[in-house]
Amino acid sequence: MPGPSYEFAHCIVCSHTDAEVIAEHDDLRAEVESLWEFHEKRLRTGTPTDRLMDRVAFSEHAPVRLVRCSDCGLIYRNPVERTHELDEIYAREGPSPGALRALHETQLPALRAQAKALRSVMGRGGSVLEVGSYVGAFLAAARERGLSAEGVDINAGVNCFTRSMGFAVHDGELDSIERGRSFDAVAIWNTFDQLADPRRAVNAAAKVLRPNGVFVVRVPNGAFYGRLRPLLASSHPLQRAAAREMLAQNNLLTFPYRWGFTERSLRALLGESGFEVVQVRGDVLVPIADEWTRPWARAEEMGAKALMRFIARRSSTHAPWIEVYARRRLVRLES
Ligand SMILES: [Zn+2]
Repeated sequence: MPGPSYEFAHCIVCSHTDAEVIAEHDDLRAEVESLWEFHEKRLRTGTPTDRLMDRVAFSEHAPVRLVRCSDCGLIYRNPVERTHELDEIYAREGPSPGALRALHETQLPALRAQAKALRSVMGRGGSVLEVGSYVGAFLAAARERGLSAEGVDINAGVNCFTRSMGFAVHDGELDSIERGRSFDAVAIWNTFDQLADPRRAVNAAAKVLRPNGVFVVRVPNGAFYGRLRPLLASSHPLQRAAAREMLAQNNLLTFPYRWGFTERSLRALLGESGFEVVQVRGDVLVPIADEWTRPWARAEEMGAKALMRFIARRSSTHAPWIEVYARRRLVRLES
């Protein structure tokens, strides 16, 4: 497979290029090595290579350079892989039905918490469309909360599996939802940070949302990565280790995302499309330990995440992941 081709990028929120470099290619390559080392130490001897690969494979196209927008703080790749390259990465063939069912079960507990939070912001029942519904874990959790849930996903193969679980899923992207459909909520829990054009998705969400409908996105917190990244090169070994731990446990080391949104950049982006942010919820990544994880590493992860979650719930700026809930503003009629 030929390597990706690149083009120069700009801030998609402020549409200019005024930015500071926060990681050069060598820094990011060092992060990839550090990530391998981190996981190798924590996995049992004899762990199949593909299970190790799962933890680092998403970094196969590590960013060339990461920059931070001087205005809104958005972290982005500059240069960036051309769009069709990313589409190829995400439309690739998925795992077996057995593995998908296991993923569904594994993801369910975390998505129950998200369904509960969304239901609480909505204030009443109604319909929700999940963009990037994948194995249907959120659809199941939303249904348990009394919501009527549908999904849309570009991965037609996985969609067949999710339909076999009894859920309505559309093939394609958000703007392929047929005209005339409308929902009380649109959720993007997983893919917003990878989209080539997040603004298009926000506008498409506004189109299918009823007035006052809720839009929620869950993203890696660019501000958290931006704050911890410099500590990876700290002269204090403990500080270095702690920064690596917090980034690695949250899939932030090597920054395998296209966009590192901050609360500020999301408020700006959503505001321009007619949304008002009503709640920001700080969180940590779901557990990454599995049957191959050494017992001490499992305990370490649980401890680290409990502490990080405690802090994240109280201060979303110190959260590795953030969920931003916004309402579509009511259209005022001219008198
Ligand atoms: Zn910006």
